[in-house]
Amino acid sequence: MHDRLRLVGLLALVACGAKAPVSPAPEQAATPENAPSAIDAAITAAIDPSVSPCDDFYQYACGGWIANTPLPPDRPIVGRGFTSISDRNQEIVRDILEHAEGADARLGSYYQTCVNTDAVEAKGTASLQADLDRIAALKDVAAIPALMVSLPMINPFFGGFVEADFKNPEVNQFQLAQGGIGLPSRDYYFPEDDAGRELLAAYEAHVGRMLGLAGLDPAGAAKVLAIETALAKASKSPAELRDIEAMYHPMTKAELKRLAPGVPWDALFTALGIEVKAVNVTTPDFFPALGDLLKRSKIADLKVYLAWNLVNEAAPYLPKAFDDESFAFYGTRLSGQAEQQPRWKRCVGRTDRALGDLLGEAYVAQAFPGESKDKALKMVGDLQHAFEEGLPELAWMDAPTRTLAKAKLDAIVNKIGYPDTWESYEGLQVGDDIYANQMAVAHWGQDDALAKVGKPVDKTEWGMSVPTVNAYYNPLFNEIVFPAGILQPPFFSADFPTAMNYGAMGMVIGHEITHGFDDEGRKFGPSGKLEVWWDDAVSERFEQRAQCIADTYDAIEVHPGTKLNGELTLGENIADFGGVKLASRAYADWQAAGGSDFAAGGFEGSQLLFLAFAQSWCSKATPEVEDQRAKVDPHAPPKFRVNVPLSSTPAFWEAFSCAEGTPMHPASTCEVW
Ligand SMILES: [Zn+2]
Repeated sequence: MHDRLRLVGLLALVACGAKAPVSPAPEQAATPENAPSAIDAAITAAIDPSVSPCDDFYQYACGGWIANTPLPPDRPIVGRGFTSISDRNQEIVRDILEHAEGADARLGSYYQTCVNTDAVEAKGTASLQADLDRIAALKDVAAIPALMVSLPMINPFFGGFVEADFKNPEVNQFQLAQGGIGLPSRDYYFPEDDAGRELLAAYEAHVGRMLGLAGLDPAGAAKVLAIETALAKASKSPAELRDIEAMYHPMTKAELKRLAPGVPWDALFTALGIEVKAVNVTTPDFFPALGDLLKRSKIADLKVYLAWNLVNEAAPYLPKAFDDESFAFYGTRLSGQAEQQPRWKRCVGRTDRALGDLLGEAYVAQAFPGESKDKALKMVGDLQHAFEEGLPELAWMDAPTRTLAKAKLDAIVNKIGYPDTWESYEGLQVGDDIYANQMAVAHWGQDDALAKVGKPVDKTEWGMSVPTVNAYYNPLFNEIVFPAGILQPPFFSADFPTAMNYGAMGMVIGHEITHGFDDEGRKFGPSGKLEVWWDDAVSERFEQRAQCIADTYDAIEVHPGTKLNGELTLGENIADFGGVKLASRAYADWQAAGGSDFAAGGFEGSQLLFLAFAQSWCSKATPEVEDQRAKVDPHAPPKFRVNVPLSSTPAFWEAFSCAEGTPMHPASTCEVW
């Protein structure tokens, strides 16, 4: 999920999907249901018995599923865990949206306006044209901020968002970041091989066709590319953006003017309507370059760039010709997806993003059993306890840091299932024009965020909607959050053997807890403040151990020519290592305390634990998506999220009798937490 006013902060379990549509639905019935025989069948059907678990555990656990699960033409990724749940969630949400009696009427209106393609065609581009006319009427650079604020659907030139002050996390702060490019990251603009150059040329051709559809000169695409390339050149890479200490530069307006005199700051803050004492500039090197660009560009070129931003963002809310062209590039060319998802599925996703709390309330009433919250809460407690138990065993820590780590652990806030209070979107009106509805939603979000600047942070807020199949750690709140969407089979079920719940959901919980102590999370104290709370010597020993993990992933090739980036994926990989270890320890604790489990699929508890973990990650993706993710996704591909941590886990070697020297039990391993 990409909340436009929130660019840093959440460490999610899986990627949130950029513009490329990710997730939903094969018509595949093999989801584990409640009967023990169905659980057995689901486990064994996924296995490839021809592979030894000690050679390639992911292939062993998932090979059967991979062989029997085609990648549907309407999705670039399919996952045994995530996809089966999001399929079910989509059906539930669709039912709510189509028949919701008693639910807020805006939900049904928004969804119906989205699915009614005849009405979308009939409305045509009248609303878009009115906004394009306003862009065309721009006289100078100083007039751009007011226009940007009046078109909150777009984020041209840079990113602006409202987030807790890193060093005073009780107060919201206005923050500025690099932005303004239409490709997934800066490197796409500086290709080093033919494939990269061809992709960039395809992007320019796409921009030209979109401009043409909007009645503008397609040759303007060259201007757009020149502007975006200048912005990309001044931008950091996704890996560089993980250095959180380098992201804190509070500045007054006078300092901003000195930093980047070419940016019309007065006009910007007047348009935003906020009083600014100290703005955090997360990427200070970017803004001088932006100022220079604004100064030296012709206003005509800047207008073409703004028009492109608008048609690009608005494409899903415009007639089919725009939607199809946008999909042809972002879906097919960039992600390898052959077909669009059915319209209703896209509209379910958009309604969730637009009116998530209205939908969440109705979803919880239908899909989240009350007892699930208590069971999940107990597991979170068990995983936290496992983390605490492991602290004395970490030779690289010293006693004072251990005490502080325990204090941070105890301070972690848990959010499970759904929020205590629901956003009511007061003042947001939904009508029968899809484009106007989307702009109204964006306006509401912008106003809501701006009203928070300088105000106390509301820590009851959630960063994901309730039906979302994901989880996150937010270092600024020191909280772990598990939406109702993920507390379902195959991650979690009251009917599973306990080993399966610990292996799948327990690992997710352990992963999120460990984020509080990964290379980024460890820089935030118990209250969510960015501060130094570790001794230098301990930090150094941590960095050495983290480097072992970074080096391991740096050496992995996803497929020939596409390597993983150990620095970009370091935080997630540390969390994966921790997640597996904590789940295993928590399950052993549960057994030691007299917990008695039942076997399933012919496996006993300690094996089921690791199988359930691996099988919740079985997945398939297009090579295009694998390439794209290797460049921008902080998560390693599922195969490596399973195999690399397990090959450093003694309890796994024991469970599957993997002798030292087998691929899953190498002689040298890494360990942080
Ligand atoms: Zn994560």
